[in-house]
Amino acid sequence: MRLFESTTLQIKEKILARELRVSEVIECFIERIKSVEPDIQAYITVNEAAAIKKAVEIDKKIENAEKVGFLAGIPVAVKDNICTKSLSTTCASKILKNFISPYDAFVVKRLKEEDAVIIGKTNLDEFAMGSSTENSGYKITRNPWNPEYVPGGSSGGSAAAVAADLSLMALGSDTGGSVRQPAALCGVVGVKPTYGRVSRYGLVAFGSSLDQIGTLTKDVKDAAVLLQVIAGHDSRDSTSMKITVPDYLHEIDSGVNSLRIGIPKEYFAAGLNPDVHEALKGTLKIYEKLGARIIDISLPHTEYAVSVYYIVANAEASSNLARYDGVRYGHRASRSNGIIDMYCRTRSEGFGNEVKRRIMLGNYALSSGYYDAYYLKASKVRNLIKIDFDMAFEKVDCIICPTSPVPGFKIGERAKNPLEMYLSDIYTIPANLAGIPAISIPCGFSKEGLPIGMQILAKHFEEKKLLQIAYAFERETDFHAKKPVLKVSSAQR
Ligand code: GLN
Repeated sequence: MRLFESTTLQIKEKILARELRVSEVIECFIERIKSVEPDIQAYITVNEAAAIKKAVEIDKKIENAEKVGFLAGIPVAVKDNICTKSLSTTCASKILKNFISPYDAFVVKRLKEEDAVIIGKTNLDEFAMGSSTENSGYKITRNPWNPEYVPGGSSGGSAAAVAADLSLMALGSDTGGSVRQPAALCGVVGVKPTYGRVSRYGLVAFGSSLDQIGTLTKDVKDAAVLLQVIAGHDSRDSTSMKITVPDYLHEIDSGVNSLRIGIPKEYFAAGLNPDVHEALKGTLKIYEKLGARIIDISLPHTEYAVSVYYIVANAEASSNLARYDGVRYGHRASRSNGIIDMYCRTRSEGFGNEVKRRIMLGNYALSSGYYDAYYLKASKVRNLIKIDFDMAFEKVDCIICPTSPVPGFKIGERAKNPLEMYLSDIYTIPANLAGIPAISIPCGFSKEGLPIGMQILAKHFEEKKLLQIAYAFERETDFHAKKPVLKVSSAQR
């Protein structure tokens, strides 16, 4: 196995045993990025010089037998809507071109405290609005399994970076599925923690009642490792909860014997791709073999989830994005006739079409006379969706369903049809509306050889249980270990 194909835990062990220097690891990933990135386009910024410098520093600490952090020398890619001091944070938007945050996000500060190496900032749909990474104001990221296909979105850069071994792990953000759906489409593990589990301080706000930072990794144990580092209370995010963070790796192999798995009938209905359906059937057989019980359940308000989400998320986005006015951040139109004209020109030039569409829809839903009919009504239906889950979890320990209704789609295929694009999130959105944690793990391949992901959902703050259930499956299968065949320069073949 080549070094860049290892998992975080494997590399961590070798670094600590002094079989591998951090500089070797980081140089290996920088080389890998140089040979593969031109075909994948996962990064907006590669942090080459600073990463190499940091590696040398950590090597020194190890040589001097000084204490090093939990992620010492591990390259981590960070989605470009998470603030990093001294490295630009663009949100893949022209409006934030060259913007450098004066502070690190809480999660970035945690990574640095644990001696991780920030290897770069990854591409996304502008302001995390999209499901394909085609809405980036800079570039289109390609799916490592087939460059004609999208990597999913909006954390498509992070998912592709992990799948193509351009980083060991990555952070993403998930407002309606943006960690889990690209994880599924790229064949990696994606965790969206409970709303309140991870601080959003320094995550550029999209839909504040839904946003959560999540992890993208090569396997379930690595997900446990990264979540361990970023989870926990932070007084600078008022939604961050003061709840003890368990040891996620401890007893991760406790199995699923007599676990009750709920299968929502609404998620296995029309529109589900047959390959995805087959893969899910296969996973349920494995869980049954491992001693779990499969129980049919119903989540009757699921059919309203996408409509509710696109009212709530857009309304909140229209308010959050009001701050990009050319005065405080980023781009400002070069010529204008007065302040109102300056706002208009700046925002017209700086935002892409999807962002503009959302601002208009969101403002409409919040405008006087329509607020009750849209935002208020959507909030009420959102509560019914949450109650569906509360009732289901009285009968079952977790819920399993597909992550994405299709294994993937081609670049350009859905770009002209926003509604079709919005339906990509039909299975991921309910967890955000209810605030519950969810994980997507690889569970098969389509006839065309594209990865398929399954989603596991549990009650609030039960990430540990999710990781145990996911690991039980991963241990029995090798879908997560399969690698895409990439075009690479001869040096790395
Ligand atoms: N695809 C969804 C949207 O476009 C979700 C995005 C996200 O989770 N950031 O809003």
